[in-house]
Amino acid sequence: MQEIILIKNGELVLKGLNRNTFEDVLIKNMKKALKDLGEFTFTKSQSTIMVKSVDENTDLDEAVSRLTKVFGIAALSRAAVAGKDMDSIMAISADYLKEELSFAKTFKVEAKRSDKKFPLTSPEISRELGGFLLSKFNHLRVDVHNPDVTVTVEIRDNYAFIRGNNIKGAGGMPVSTSGRAAVLISGGIDSPVASYMMAKRGIELVAVHFASPPFTTELAEKKVMELLRKVAQYSGPITTYVVPFTEIQQQIRKECPEEYFTIILRRYMMKISEIIAKHQNCSALITGESVGQVASQTIYALACTDAAANMPVFRPCIGMDKEEIIRISRKIDTFETSIQPYEDCCTVFTPKHPKTRPKLEDVINAESALNSEELINAAVENARRSVIK
Ligand code: ATP
Ligand code: MG
Repeated sequence: MQEIILIKNGELVLKGLNRNTFEDVLIKNMKKALKDLGEFTFTKSQSTIMVKSVDENTDLDEAVSRLTKVFGIAALSRAAVAGKDMDSIMAISADYLKEELSFAKTFKVEAKRSDKKFPLTSPEISRELGGFLLSKFNHLRVDVHNPDVTVTVEIRDNYAFIRGNNIKGAGGMPVSTSGRAAVLISGGIDSPVASYMMAKRGIELVAVHFASPPFTTELAEKKVMELLRKVAQYSGPITTYVVPFTEIQQQIRKECPEEYFTIILRRYMMKISEIIAKHQNCSALITGESVGQVASQTIYALACTDAAANMPVFRPCIGMDKEEIIRISRKIDTFETSIQPYEDCCTVFTPKHPKTRPKLEDVINAESALNSEELINAAVENARRSVIK
C-alpha cells in the first residue's frame, strides 16, 4: 500500500502575493525540512500539495512531524492510495485506518469526487464505504455532526486517496514570503518566542547575539545556539552573528552614569544589530521586549531604545503576559532550555537604580562620552558568523 502526505495551505487571502508564489515558496521550505530524510516529489493539485516519498523505506512519521513545523500549512494528513474502484477503496480503508477506527467510538465518511466520471456519486460512496466499515468494526456508530474520526475519500484523476483525521499544521505564512528581519536573541524566554512569532508571519530570520566574555561564558553562548536550533525547526536555517560586547560594556561602565547603563547598552545593541541587518538585507529588527517586564522595558525606556535605530523594530511579545509567552515557549520546546541559569550580558553590571523614565536627550547626553563609532565598528568587525539549522 502506498502512503502519501497531503498538505492543505494556510492563508490564501493574500494581498500582493499570489497563490503560485506562496505555494512555490512553501514547497521549497518543505524540501529543506525533509532534505536529509530521502527524496520526495511535490505535486500541486486542487488546493492541496501531494508529498510522495520516492523511496519506500522513508520515515514518514518523522517527515510528518517535521512538516507540522513548516509555516504556511493549515492542515496535513497521511493518506493511502487506492485504485479507483469501490473494492479497492473499501479494502484499503479498513486496513489503513484500522488502528484509528479501533480507538474511535463514532465516525463518518466524507467523499469528494474531482473525477465526475466515477460511477458512484459522493453520497453513494459515503453510504457504501460507511456500511462496509460498520460491518468490519462492530463497535462503531455513525455520527455526522461530531465524529471521532472522519474518513475522507477523494476520487482523483488516477487514484483514490483515503485518509483519517487531519493533523493541525503550524499555520502562518511560508518563511521568506514576507522578507527578512534580524532578531536580537538572548538566552531568555522571550526572544526565542518573538523569533518564532515573526517567522510564523513569513519572515526569514537572521539572529544577532551579544556576548561579553569572560563575564558571559561559552556555555551561555551554547544555550543561545541550542535555542536557535529549536527555532530553526520552524523558521529554517538562521544566519547568526555573535558580537563581542565586553569592550562596549566596560566603556559604558567607565564613562556613563550608572542609572543609564542598561538603556545605553540596549541602544548599542540596536545600533550594531541595524548595521548587521542592513548587511544581511533585512528590513526590520525583532526583540522579545514586553511592556513593563523590567526597568528597560517601560514605554519611556523603549522609546529611547527605539530611537537608536532607523529601522522598524518588531516586538511581538509587547502586549503579552509572561504566562502567555511561556505557553508559546513550551509549545515550541524552548522553555526548558531558556530557564537554564546562564548569565546574559544584560545582567552583567546592572544598575541598582535604573532610570525607569529616561528622557532621550539625557540618555544621548549620558552616552556622549563614548567613542561610539569606533566601538561599534570594532564590534561589527569582530562578530562571528555561522548558520544554525
Ligand atoms: P529575554 O527573555 O528575551 O532575554 P528579557 O525579558 O530577559 O528577554 P532583557 O534581558 O531586558 O529582557 O532583553 C530584552 C530584549 O533584548 C530581549 O528579548 C532580546 O531581544 C534583547 N537582548 C537581551 N540580551 C541580549 C543579548 N545578549 N544578545 C542579543 N539580544 C539581547
Ligand atoms: Mg534576558
